[in-house]
Amino acid sequence: NAETRYLITEEKDIRPLITPRHKFAHKGNYGHGLLITGSYGMGGAAVLSARACLRSGVGLLTIHTPVCNHTLLQTCVPEAMVEDDVHERFFAEPAELDNYQAVGIGCGLGQEEITAQAVIEQVRDCEIPLVLDADALNIFSTYRNNLSYIPKNTILTPHIGELERIIGRCSNSYERISKAKDLANSLQCYIVLKGAWTVVITPEGLCHFNPTGNPGMATGGSGDVLTGIITALLAQGYSEEEACKLGTYVHGLAGDIARNKVGEISLKAGDIIEALPEAWKSLT
Ligand code: AMP
Ligand code: MG
Repeated sequence: NAETRYLITEEKDIRPLITPRHKFAHKGNYGHGLLITGSYGMGGAAVLSARACLRSGVGLLTIHTPVCNHTLLQTCVPEAMVEDDVHERFFAEPAELDNYQAVGIGCGLGQEEITAQAVIEQVRDCEIPLVLDADALNIFSTYRNNLSYIPKNTILTPHIGELERIIGRCSNSYERISKAKDLANSLQCYIVLKGAWTVVITPEGLCHFNPTGNPGMATGGSGDVLTGIITALLAQGYSEEEACKLGTYVHGLAGDIARNKVGEISLKAGDIIEALPEAWKSLT
């Protein structure tokens, strides 16, 4: 019934979702993730999402990024492999997805025409678990006719601005969530509507409100960190719903740990990543 459709995620719901690592595990057990991220002047989004992904248990990570970000990523994220796009500055050529278990697309991509075409083609042909964030969402709001190309069960992670570019301006949060539910239903996708009390909306219309996080996280790059976390969880085989709930919870928890260390004013996205180990440890 209507009352049970709005839920608050609690730590006791989160803990049992986390699968402990097996004694005889090897990196192949935890999936190979791909992040398609970065453009000229926005290489930082690639660094942040990749570092968060690696702090969230992914077995292997490859970053597909324009040539100009190659050295930056090999230097700042030595644990990841870097696949150069054909283009010097922008994502222009869809990546081959055969060897990956999950892909996250959008952080810092920009919205060049050539990137828009590559994103649409990449998404249309994607058959593995997929996260769409930031400019990937902006591109679909520009090319709204192509929304139907988004595969079933894709996770969309818009902040309010990105969501309203797709569904139109809303006058209050009730209307916004209601329209987001319609979108999740029509696309049969998961929507992670970010902000204070991030809400995870399932294709069936369940709304899971996330209690962790704080206003210190209202700073550039915070969302890129979340994309990295959710991509890592999908690559490890967590279901879409688990990845959304667990990912938003641990992201906010890391933000709260970071706030305790540096305060809300000084908090920057990198601090959330640095707090991820403590956040994960406290949940396991
Ligand atoms: P983005 O706007 O894409 O960088 O994403 C911002 C991230 O920070 C999202 O995960 C938000 O949920 C989180 N965030 C931003 N502001 C707040 C806030 N006031 N309280 C809790 N979380 C926030
Ligand atoms: Mg963002």
